[in-house]
Amino acid sequence: MSRIRSIDPTTGSVIEEFDEDSPEVVDQRLAAAATAQRMLAAAGFARRAEWMRAAADLLEAETDEVAGMITAEMGKPIAQSRAEVSKSAATMRFYADNAESFLTGTALAEPDRVGASAARTRFDPLGVILAVMPWNYPIWQVARFAAPALMAGNAGVLKHASNVPRAALYLGELFTRAGFPAGAFATLLIGSARVEGVIRDRRVAAVTLTGSEGAGRSIAAAAGDALKKSVLELGGSDPFIVMPSADLDAAVETAVRARVTNNGQACINAKRFIVHADVYDAFAARFTERMAALTIGDPARESTDLGPLASERGREDVEELVDDARSRGARILTGGSRQDGDGWFYRPTVVAELTPDMRLWSEEAFGPVASLYRAESLDDALRIANDNDFGLGSAFWSTDDTEIDHAVAALEAGAVFVNGMTVSYPDLPFGGVKRSGYGRELSAEGIREFCNLKTVWVA
Ligand code: NAP
Repeated sequence: MSRIRSIDPTTGSVIEEFDEDSPEVVDQRLAAAATAQRMLAAAGFARRAEWMRAAADLLEAETDEVAGMITAEMGKPIAQSRAEVSKSAATMRFYADNAESFLTGTALAEPDRVGASAARTRFDPLGVILAVMPWNYPIWQVARFAAPALMAGNAGVLKHASNVPRAALYLGELFTRAGFPAGAFATLLIGSARVEGVIRDRRVAAVTLTGSEGAGRSIAAAAGDALKKSVLELGGSDPFIVMPSADLDAAVETAVRARVTNNGQACINAKRFIVHADVYDAFAARFTERMAALTIGDPARESTDLGPLASERGREDVEELVDDARSRGARILTGGSRQDGDGWFYRPTVVAELTPDMRLWSEEAFGPVASLYRAESLDDALRIANDNDFGLGSAFWSTDDTEIDHAVAALEAGAVFVNGMTVSYPDLPFGGVKRSGYGRELSAEGIREFCNLKTVWVA
């Protein structure tokens, strides 16, 4: 079994190394999760809500320590790491407050229509859910799974990304420290090759993945073969459309944030900026100027806008995409290269004049690289936006109501944000269409994904 290493992307040095969990340890955790799940289900909403609020309180009280760990382990600017912790705690409270009402079934108004004296629905927990999670929001991605899953009465086992073992171990203890039954939420420190075996384990009822398309294919195939439910939150190459009537200053400011938040490594970062020809030159000039002015450096410093990419491989992926576009005739308006020195830094980059033969046209750039497209009309903008296999979020900037209505209906995405940037909120469903995956997280829809919607018919 290989070692799992936490490496600081700002310096490239190893912070800590861990042994993978042995098959015996994984077996014990799954057995404990199955036992704990029955206790959780029996405990009821009020008790689970108490534990969940305690977990939120603990996490919040440990904000500085946890935020420092995130920044050291994957390079997120420290203010954003603190915001991630606070959003995670808020989401835990959101489900503590709302799970019961989200999971209240409905009674059929006219049961005689189905020959019953009463008929109703109820939401029961499914059992032990495996969560395979990415490193880019190491606390938030897990919180948005764990809060609804545990509040529904499911147990969770976490296989976190191999480059964030410290976050994984922290989360593996958090819920038990808060009072949940031992084993109700546990970390499995294993590599991705061992995920399929866990999916196939009889004690595991379902699996959720947030990650890349490749991982999505493997996990969906294993879950499909085992006939287990899966939810997939995969990649995105979100369009950000700017029409002539938009407030251009606001659009530019938001566009920069939408592209570089989380060092450009969020699934819902805007990645393709599709700008109407009437305002293209003005947008391109201001956007490029703002991207070039970002402060790149040590993410532990409050003034840093852009830290390193999380891994050496991640930087190479971004570099290859930009180099490919350049070699096929794209124009690099700013950036376009790595920053010399320690760490896996890549300069904020704007690429224009893309053509479909370039990888950047169709692939996700998971780093601070913005692609600019000139659109001749609204329909042309929507055509470019939809000419992509991903369909996660999208943003549409205009003050024309007719245009807005048309775009909201036409965009092939799990979300459309009008005159804003795509953000996840606990109150709103989150997920994608096309190769961005299936199923929804957050809101009432998210908590119901891992429930048995049971029909009850009474003679
Ligand atoms: P990744 O390589 O797919 O890793 C994500 C998780 O899947 C990790 O725990 C990883 O484990 C595991 N994994 C990878 N290959 C696997 C396989 N064949 N079988 C089973 N498990 C496997 O993703 P990433 O590149 O680190 O993360 C970035 C991707 O996630 C981007 O595409 C991004 O857009 C997407 N993402 C999507 C959302 C969303 O909500 N839609 C949110 C955030 C990120 P190891 O680390 O051990 O390989």
